[in-house]
This record gives sequence, structure tokens and C-alpha cells, in this order.
Amino acid sequence: MAGNGKESFDLLVIGGGPGGYVAAIRASQLGLSVACVEVEKLGGVCLNIGCIPTKSLLTSALMVKEVEDAAKHGITTGEVTVDLGPAQERSRKVSDQMNKGVEFLFKKNKVTHLKGFGRLAGKGQVEVEAADGSKSKYKAKHVIVATGSRPQSLPFLQIDGEHVWSSDEALFVKKAPKSIAVIGAGAIGAEFADIFEAFGSEVTLIEALDRVLPLEDAEVSAHLAKSYKKRGMSIHTGARLETADQAGDGVNLTFKDADGKKQKLTVEKVLSAVGRIPNTEDVGLESAGVKLSEKGRFIQVDEWMRTNVEGIYAIGDCAGGPLLAHKAMHEGVACVEKIAGDPHAPVDYENIPNCTYCHPEVASVGLTEEQAKEAGYDIEVGKFPWVGNGRAVAYGDVDGFIKVVRGKKYSEILGAHIIGPHATELIAEFVLGRHLESTVEEVEKAIHPHPTLSEAIGEGALAALGRPIHI
Ligand code: NAD
Repeated sequence: MAGNGKESFDLLVIGGGPGGYVAAIRASQLGLSVACVEVEKLGGVCLNIGCIPTKSLLTSALMVKEVEDAAKHGITTGEVTVDLGPAQERSRKVSDQMNKGVEFLFKKNKVTHLKGFGRLAGKGQVEVEAADGSKSKYKAKHVIVATGSRPQSLPFLQIDGEHVWSSDEALFVKKAPKSIAVIGAGAIGAEFADIFEAFGSEVTLIEALDRVLPLEDAEVSAHLAKSYKKRGMSIHTGARLETADQAGDGVNLTFKDADGKKQKLTVEKVLSAVGRIPNTEDVGLESAGVKLSEKGRFIQVDEWMRTNVEGIYAIGDCAGGPLLAHKAMHEGVACVEKIAGDPHAPVDYENIPNCTYCHPEVASVGLTEEQAKEAGYDIEVGKFPWVGNGRAVAYGDVDGFIKVVRGKKYSEILGAHIIGPHATELIAEFVLGRHLESTVEEVEKAIHPHPTLSEAIGEGALAALGRPIHI
């Protein structure tokens, strides 16, 4: 029996991804007896085949670009050759280290890891199916479903793992293909396009909507597209993939471009990055009577992540978008603190940052300029380019800008958008500013150290007040 003889817990979490493992640890800190059922490695998609290994590969990809620039720094390298193999192996070591970290945290916090596949099995019961097929039942006062999501595939572009990859397969590739078509220019498509281009692939991005990273501010999308094109990538937006046929060692694709013209393309590999779907089948949700949304089959929850069935909760990707690890972690904490009678606050869905770790990096929080206008706000928009920031110039990366959308009435930070160096780190200041309901003036008045990239945050705030200094 996986639970070391223990059969009954205060809380059982099904799924050990960022939502599940964080919920388990926090619940244990609050004095609950906790078990977490995980069939694969602890850490889930994010840590094992998502966020963490891609960040490792993107670090390698950025290094390729930096090494190409080394001569300017007086570093002689000779001809730079690239090989995805060692970078891929490094990414596995990074993931393994983080996975062991979660195992350690479980031991430290006395969370029992039940190895196997978990299913709801009647009131307050969870069945765990081990790798050898044996089944054990556990009791719990509360059960959190945190089963995550998996790549979606288009009906005419089935992921075969050989010619057509999802992100799951792309992460294990040791040799960059000669050419690759990336279908979908959301976060996953944009990040893998960056990795494969850096390691020598000819990259074509095909996106159905009118721009890359369609959820970001339009100016940010336009800047990223420009930057990618400069690197030699082909980008087709407003383009719909229609057919994909494997032929010899490659794949023949046809797509309709933005002008409605049919285009043909032959590539060695295809990466399908057209979104993810929740893992809500085969978890026993139907028999438990848990309601799913009509569209997307996500589990319906209230602000405390409670489903319609007492004692059953859902967090993370399986409970709906945005499908982000940090959102899942916060849902887990909000959920278990409520269960333990020590709630802090429900998740603030208006203040969840988006981060894409491509180069240039993209990060944002709050409303885009377009959304703010549509919502009827009277706004002032400020833009500060990295070229006006001394640290960015010294760093050698001035590709991009900071854009702040200010509500004129209360001078609140309606939205902040960063494209450029360390955007994904810098966005946190705007997240905190919004969390503390700071005005744009307050962001500007806070002294940013000189010379740092963070000064551009103050300058972005000043720009939204119509008075930047360094531009
Ligand atoms: P996504 O939904 O963000 O992007 C998919 C894109 O594919 C969309 O822009 C869509 O218009 C396009 N598309 C769909 N069908 C198409 C077709 N037939 N032809 C061309 N384009 C088509 O999904 P994703 O990038 O796969 O990511 C999945 C989820 O994981 C998202 O919620 C994302 O936020 C999350 N994620 C986040 C990060 C990050 O934060 N860095 C990284 C990876 C994934």
C-alpha cells in the first residue's frame, strides 16, 4: 500500500503539479494530515515537461545569441557551433533537481506521496491505481482535484511524436530539425520558435489570429513579430493550417494566409502548439456528480475552489484558465486555507501576470490598451523604450519597451506591458503595485536604483503621466 499503512487523511490531493503540491504543503503547514496522489513525477507538467525545462532551453538559446556577440566584449570564440543535445540534457538535469526538491519538501512537511493514478471513488474516498494495476482505497474529509491539462491536437494534425510534436515531445529532441513549422503563436509556440531558431532550425510560425502572442498588447505582439523576423523566422498571422500530410522524412502543409491565398510548405517537423485541454476524464468526476463547464470541460468552482459537491475541490488547469502555474499555486493556497478555517483571500484573477520567456521576453499584467478602451476607461498611455535606460544599453539589449496604461480618473495602473530584457522579472513590480492599489505617481515616486533595468519601470510610469526624463 502506497500510503505507508495510513488509509485516512484530512486532505487528499489528486495531482502533484504546482497547484497540487503547493496545496498539499500549505495544508500540512496548517496542521492537516495530507496525501498527494501522483502517477508521474512530483512537480507535474510545469516542473518536468513544461515551465522549468523550457526555461533551461531558453537560457541556452539566449546564450547562443550572446556568444554570437562575444567579440564585442573582447572574447574570441572562433566559429560558434550549436548543438541542442547538451542543452537538452542540461534541461533534464534542471527538471530532475527541481523534482527532487519537491520530494524533499513533501518529506519535510510530512505529506504522503501516494504513487499511482487517483480517482474519486464515492463520498470521501479516492482510489489509487498503482503501476502494477493494483488498486487501494483511501479516505479523506476533503479531496482536491488538481489533475492539470495536456496538449490539444487539431483533428487534421495528430501528434505522432515523430513528425508532428507537441511540447511534450519537443522537449526531448536532441537535434534541432533543419526546418520546423510551429502551429500556434501563443506562449508555447513563441518559446519553442525561439529555442529552435537559436539552435539552427529554419522556423515558420503559423498563427490563426491576427498577431503573435494574441493575448498580449497589440504593440507588444507587433514588436515581437518584428524581432523574430529580424532573426530570420517566417511569420504568417491570420493564417489557418488546413492540411498536414507526412511525406518521406517531412510533412507537407497547406494553409490559408491572411489574404485568403492557399500556401504550401514542406518542413522536416511540425510543432503543434494550439492550446491545452483539461485532464478531467477518468478521474471519477461524473460518478461523483461534479459539474463541468459546457465549453472546454473544465471543473466548475466557486471563489474558494469548491465544486458543486461538498468536500470536493478543484484547482489549477483542470479548473479553468488562465492555464498558468502561478495561478494554480495561488488557487491551491486559497483553497486549503479556507478548508483549514484560515483564509487569506480568494485569488485575484485581475492581477495574474502573463510571462513568455522568449527573446525578447514578454510580460504583462492587467488590461491591454485596447481592452482598457473597450471597457470605457479614460486612459493615458506611456511608453518608455529600453534605449533610454543606461543599464540596458550597457547590458547590450535594448530591444523593446515598457508600456503603462493609466486610468486618468484615479491614476491607477490599469495595465503594464514589458517587452525586453528580464521583462518576466520586472513585471512583478507592477503586480505588487496593482495589488497594493498604488497610483502611477506612487510607482514613479518610489526610488529605483541607478543604473538598473528597474528604472525603466519608473520611467514607464512617468511616460504614462506625460513626463518621462530619459527620452
Ligand atoms: P494558447 O492558447 O496560448 O495559444 C495557441 C495558439 O494557437 C492561439 O493563439 C490560437 O489562435 C492558435 N491556433 C489554434 N488553432 C490554430 C490553427 N489551426 N492554425 C494556426 N493557429 C492556431 O496555447 P499554448 O501556447 O499552446 O499554451 C497552452 C497554455 O499553456 C496557455 O494557457 C498558456 O498560457 C500556457 N503556457 C504558458 C506559458 C508561459 O507562461 N510562459 C508557457 C507555456 C504554456
